Amino acid sequence: MQKTISHLMKPEMKEIMKVQSAALKAIDSFMYSREILHLMPVMLSPVTDPLCHSVFDASIDYYGQKLELTKSMILHKQLVMMADSIKGIYIVSPNIRLEFEECGKSGKHLIEFSQVDIELPRVSSREFMDFTEELYSYVFSFVKQECKQELKKLGRKISVPIKPFKVFDSTELKEKFGEDFERIVSEKEKQPFWITDYYREFYDKQDPETKKHVNYDLVYPEGFGEALSGGEREFEFEIIKRKILERKMDLAPYESYLAVAEKGLLKPTAGGGFGVERLIRFLTGKKHIREVTLFPRIPGEKIVL
Ligand code: ASP
Ligand code: MG
Repeated sequence: MQKTISHLMKPEMKEIMKVQSAALKAIDSFMYSREILHLMPVMLSPVTDPLCHSVFDASIDYYGQKLELTKSMILHKQLVMMADSIKGIYIVSPNIRLEFEECGKSGKHLIEFSQVDIELPRVSSREFMDFTEELYSYVFSFVKQECKQELKKLGRKISVPIKPFKVFDSTELKEKFGEDFERIVSEKEKQPFWITDYYREFYDKQDPETKKHVNYDLVYPEGFGEALSGGEREFEFEIIKRKILERKMDLAPYESYLAVAEKGLLKPTAGGGFGVERLIRFLTGKKHIREVTLFPRIPGEKIVL
């Protein structure tokens, strides 16, 4: 049996998928109770998340139009939030990121994964972080309660994290631990924590006075690494345009998005997205993301089915 599909036969796949079902149910219930609307994903668009690292091209030609496979729904989330009086949105969205083969060794990268992508109107980064802490605590306690047998079989103990989670500044961590700070701190910590202020995509807000990036990553403890990325968003045309150009990117693909921004229609929002497979890997305590993914697409590996 090929390595990439042999794990489908493993008896514990049933337990892992039960944990996944419980986690997804908990996410839906939490969102529903907060009146956060569940939207359907899009997979083909003229523009998608530019990401802040290089990946292989994943676009197709359709009747002469170049369409990108979704890397994340960030730009679409901002567009949906133009509608007044929505309390928030989320999408369980398939994302395609054709990462280079080096990422295949990380144990946490897939070139196709599912992201729970969330956006809330008129909230600060701290308010979004509070929301996420409540969501995570709810999901962890629901899974712990619902999947007692399964977790026992998997040999995994889940602790419901205590709020508020610790917050670290990325610059300070880099000074202390070097470039690999996320992994080092993830190995030291005992419960999920935040790292703030990353220089990355144009759409994450930068405070015009302090120059700090008003964004965050949520990181799992025990060396599991990144869970969620997000931030407050830029919504003003001139700033968005300047930041795209500063990143040496072409404005042309963003033409329609920029036209909306120029009309002043984008709203101040904050949000973030977390990978479903990474969440299940953490909840089940598995070393490699391959072990919790039915049809794992690992960077650099041949896909057999
Ligand atoms: N979905 C993320 C966000 O909302 C971006 C990402 O996928 O990294 O910021
Ligand atoms: Mg990220």
